[in-house]
Amino acid sequence: MLKRLREVMAEELGAQERLDKIVRHIAANMVAEVCSVYVLRADNVLELFATEGLKPEAVHEASLRVGQGLVGTIAATARPLNLDDAQSHPAFAYLPETGEEIYQSFLGVPILRAGRSLGVLVVQNQASRTYREDEVEALETTAMVIAELIAAGELEGLNRQGTGLDLSRALRLVGSPLAEGIGLGYVVLHEPRVVVTNLFNEDADKEIERLREAIGRLRISIDDLLDRREVAKDGEHREVLEAYRMFANDRGWVRHMEEAIANGLTAEAAVEKVQSDNRARMIRQSDPYLRERLHDFEDLAYRLLRELVGRPHGPLSGDLPGDCILVARNMGAAELLDYNRDNLRALVLEEGSPTSHVVIVARALGIPVVGQMQNVVSMAESGTSVIVDGDEGVVHLRPVAEVETAYAEKVRFRASRQKQYEALRDEPPVTRDGINIDLSMNAGLAMDLPQLAQSGAVGIGLFRTELQFMVAARFPRPGEQERFYREVVQAADGKPVTFRTLDIGGDKVLPYIQSVPEENPALGWRAIRLSIDRPGLIRGQIRALLKATAGRELRVMLPMVTEMREIRRVREIIEREVEILSSFGHELPRSLKLGAMIEVPALLWQLDELMAEVDFVSIGSNDLFQFVMASDRGNAKIASRFDPLSRAFLRVLRTIVVKADEHHVPLTLCGEIAGRPLSAMALIGLGLRSISMAPSSIGPVKAMVRQLDAGKLSEILLPEIARPAREQTIRELLTDFAGQHGILY
Ligand code: PEP
Ligand code: MG
Repeated sequence: MLKRLREVMAEELGAQERLDKIVRHIAANMVAEVCSVYVLRADNVLELFATEGLKPEAVHEASLRVGQGLVGTIAATARPLNLDDAQSHPAFAYLPETGEEIYQSFLGVPILRAGRSLGVLVVQNQASRTYREDEVEALETTAMVIAELIAAGELEGLNRQGTGLDLSRALRLVGSPLAEGIGLGYVVLHEPRVVVTNLFNEDADKEIERLREAIGRLRISIDDLLDRREVAKDGEHREVLEAYRMFANDRGWVRHMEEAIANGLTAEAAVEKVQSDNRARMIRQSDPYLRERLHDFEDLAYRLLRELVGRPHGPLSGDLPGDCILVARNMGAAELLDYNRDNLRALVLEEGSPTSHVVIVARALGIPVVGQMQNVVSMAESGTSVIVDGDEGVVHLRPVAEVETAYAEKVRFRASRQKQYEALRDEPPVTRDGINIDLSMNAGLAMDLPQLAQSGAVGIGLFRTELQFMVAARFPRPGEQERFYREVVQAADGKPVTFRTLDIGGDKVLPYIQSVPEENPALGWRAIRLSIDRPGLIRGQIRALLKATAGRELRVMLPMVTEMREIRRVREIIEREVEILSSFGHELPRSLKLGAMIEVPALLWQLDELMAEVDFVSIGSNDLFQFVMASDRGNAKIASRFDPLSRAFLRVLRTIVVKADEHHVPLTLCGEIAGRPLSAMALIGLGLRSISMAPSSIGPVKAMVRQLDAGKLSEILLPEIARPAREQTIRELLTDFAGQHGILY
């Protein structure tokens, strides 16, 4: 049948004629009295586009809503229906204009592309019969050809009303706002799909052979991965690979692909077809475990496609075309940094949470992010125009002109607000009741440095030194580190910079250091733990910092401190380095301040010792919150389950404020909550007088500070957090307060 269809596709024909010819061929080939094509319009109606056997005058007249009748049910479920007595099916809806009442048997399959129904292909017979499995397969394969026709835009304009077809429909998708800002551009898939252009095979046996060889290579590559030492232990990574291996050996999967080839498809098109069927099932699957497994299946199909076209490895990174909206299931911070920032307008993730590192890095780079957007990877085709609204957590695929205009206006409005913030740049961050709040910025890359002057930050409250290590192709040499730190202090131009020592491990992996798989990496061998066990690392870093800050103040901060002896150990290392450098006659920093991050709950019961041990402390609320609430900061499923503005967490923060005051130890907070005006307001109400945030947040937070009466807020907030929970949450109390006092948040 496909051979005939190929000829029809190659003929010089109008779109309607071509479709008419296709249904005639299918009917003849399947010995069916009827063959009809219904195409989904943008208004969610399936319109009869061509028929052999039904009344010709019904074409472009007969229509059904998605979910209505047999055809609508097939489109809604993306599953075939094979019935020997169609009229007794509960969903049967009689369309008198078609004259279909005399046909008893019915076989309908969805016309799928990337798992989405674009229409329905139907054959009908008068006599009662059940269509054989191979007939169902053949009809599905044929449906794929029609899907290509629709996707190529050939049928555009044939439909009755001027609504357009579904595939060209504008879609508004709602996810979670993870990093603010608006991005306009075109979809670039982080893991690009291989575009299958050649659908029809010349020689089925040869294609089956190609498929088998590619599957063979795929199996070997997965076995290799499993054999590698780093996945030798049990763990999630291994589980995923085992699942891959299982799928790669799945007879059903291979059989379906071989059948599609036998029906006339190329190996690539067969993989694509079976993958599309699977994806259609996945999109409708609600069991999270099965969804996850089906995702694995998808990955495997991508790998197989890449094997077939000879491009087995790797996502696209590096240079991008202009105005890119990057779309991915998820990605690591280092992977994001692989892209050229200049062309990147926004990031859309199926997963992601506000404090996952990729999101923190995106925020630092000023890239808007929307996350937790289900199935966006299958819905977004490369090159599709898209608007990402990181303020609202909304993505517009193929936006209509009105939406584009509205967003252009929004972008203008943001720019003017940005101007207002810029005007605030040299205004002091002082509350209405005269309290100064130090607003510092977080940084980590050379490209962040110009923001120090532009944002009006008083300094760099958190310099994440690991980012330099994460973007490097190999371990930065001591000389390189020193040069980089010198560049940072020079750019700071006398403003204080707090350098945090390497915070690697957990989800921050360095591509060139083999990481040992851990059951719970966030609780594992990371940050200061790793530095102490591998003192060479931290020694080199300290030496580079000492040299780079000669004649100035050096502020060093330690991540993930759990016990006092960790601080003492690093102090010893610093003292030793100071000794060595001065014995060689190097100029040293004018003064040296050593601080600790409060991120591990154990410190809450050592606050007196801690305050006596260090020169300053900084609350890492991202990690502290995840450990206090036992809630993985990178897990999208629970990202919004617990509120950082809950009584429990605010009480924790208040305890720290009280202790720091008591000991006169400077305190700051540098987690993501510092950058949101409402939570920053809460922090000030708790007594914090210094916070550090992404540079783009300084303007909005300063605007809030200048409207705030901190004393009044504390009077309400402090007694409230001490009380047992009641109906009104603290967040509601804060939004009410902001509303009453005209504070923008
Ligand atoms: C934190 O944990 O709050 C923090 C600032 O550090 P990071 O986000 O880099 O872990
Ligand atoms: Mg942290």
